[in-house]
Amino acid sequence: MNDRYLEFTHSPFGKSLASMLGLPTPPRLRRADAPWADRPLEATPVVLGGDSGAALAAPLLKALSGMGAILRIVPEHAGLAPIKAAAAQMSVALAGNPAPDSGEPRSQALVFDASGVASPAQLREVYDFFQPLVRNVPGNGRILVLSRAPQSCIDVGRKTAATALRGFVRSLAKEVGKNGTTCNLIEVETGGEGWLDAPLRFFLSVHSAYVSGQLLTVGAHAKATAVALPGSLQGKTALVTGAARGIGAAIAEVLAREGARVIGMDHPSQEGALGETMAKIGGRGLALDVTAPDAAERIAAETEGLDIVVHNAGVTRDKMLRNMTPQQWDMVLNINLAAILRINEGLLKKGLNGGARVVCISSIGGIGGNAGQTNYGATKAGVIGYVDAMAETLAQRGGAINAVAPGFIETQMTAAMPVGPREVGRRINSLSQGGLPQDIAEAVAFLASPAAAGVNGRTLRVCGQNWFGA
Ligand code: NAP
Repeated sequence: MNDRYLEFTHSPFGKSLASMLGLPTPPRLRRADAPWADRPLEATPVVLGGDSGAALAAPLLKALSGMGAILRIVPEHAGLAPIKAAAAQMSVALAGNPAPDSGEPRSQALVFDASGVASPAQLREVYDFFQPLVRNVPGNGRILVLSRAPQSCIDVGRKTAATALRGFVRSLAKEVGKNGTTCNLIEVETGGEGWLDAPLRFFLSVHSAYVSGQLLTVGAHAKATAVALPGSLQGKTALVTGAARGIGAAIAEVLAREGARVIGMDHPSQEGALGETMAKIGGRGLALDVTAPDAAERIAAETEGLDIVVHNAGVTRDKMLRNMTPQQWDMVLNINLAAILRINEGLLKKGLNGGARVVCISSIGGIGGNAGQTNYGATKAGVIGYVDAMAETLAQRGGAINAVAPGFIETQMTAAMPVGPREVGRRINSLSQGGLPQDIAEAVAFLASPAAAGVNGRTLRVCGQNWFGA
């Protein structure tokens, strides 16, 4: 559904009216219109900074120069020693950051390696880096902080400072969203240093346009082999449930864009729509109810080994608990949660290839909760616990399982909402607009890639930093 208010505020009349009345002007987000690029930051200036004990300079520089970025530093900043040392060792050029009035292109991204911050006092280095630079980030810019995951910090000062960065990032994301800039945090566990390339590509590119104020933890993966993100889904076989329309159709489309062979599954009542969606992307349809007791066996019989499984099918049956019938409870629990466990259990016995990656769709409704959604909220929170619980099982097979929690997304489901709640739902996030199904699909494709091997058991919110459960 079209966001008429956003369109209006981008017309000459709407723009001046909004500014006269002090109304918000939601930014136009730049989204991907092509597969993952080899060099997504070609000739794009990025300012790099770090604290004096930063430990991630080498993987960071390798990834950024591999993406084609022009690397800039502010020479007066303290804490550049680890970055300069890594640059010298890797023969990577570091340019000075030009003054805002120099006529040089502005830096599109600010990236700070805070992995060595050891005390609250040292957080000052984070302030010193961002404070003078943040006002010059252009529209659709990217701000990214890397830190040591608090669970990997052994001393009190480090753990405190690493956790403080979460509040810093969430707050800064709320300041910069007005112009479509996102701000996120990558937390690196011990052993996760070698798995940073794909997360950096995701967060610094147009593929993460609606992800802001989030943290993603990257850890070690003993059984996976490092591969590049671009091209990593070529030839993979992916099953997407609920693929006839909405978010599922977008997931199928983006996976196909990246070269995967897609099998779209949907309820037999949706066979026609499913056929049309699959025809557009050269995929194959499978009309099958996710709650069928033999769903896993049927899927295994119809496919020849799956590399990717996306559990997207979901329903709502909203009612205040006092009015909710057992049927409404059972149906939502069965489709949104029990079916995922049942299908995976079956596919783990037969149907999954080694290294298979599973992505489940949760919801911010499972994080913040909504009146009238005790059934739905329970299922979507359950998904978050489930991916955490299953991470080790999938890792043992060389794969992973993660979840994506969408916020307000423009689909048939949200178009059916009454105007008032729909308008509020759209605006209560740092980017002042609803997301598109493509935004969820981009995050799913990233998590479905073997290049994201260090990401396992995690839930990534794709919600424009919705204020629900934030
Ligand atoms: P949608 O437009 O209603 O699409 C869901 C699809 O799943 C439909 O084609 C539906 O078919 C299918 N499905 C339902 N029950 C099924 C079953 N038993 N077996 C097979 N397929 C079944 O929903 P959406 O908005 O794209 O949402 C997709 C996922 O994202 C859901 O898990 C939802 O909870 C989650 N999500 C959405 C939003 C949002 O803002 N839209 C926000 C947070 C989370 P039928 O027509 O037969 O039901």
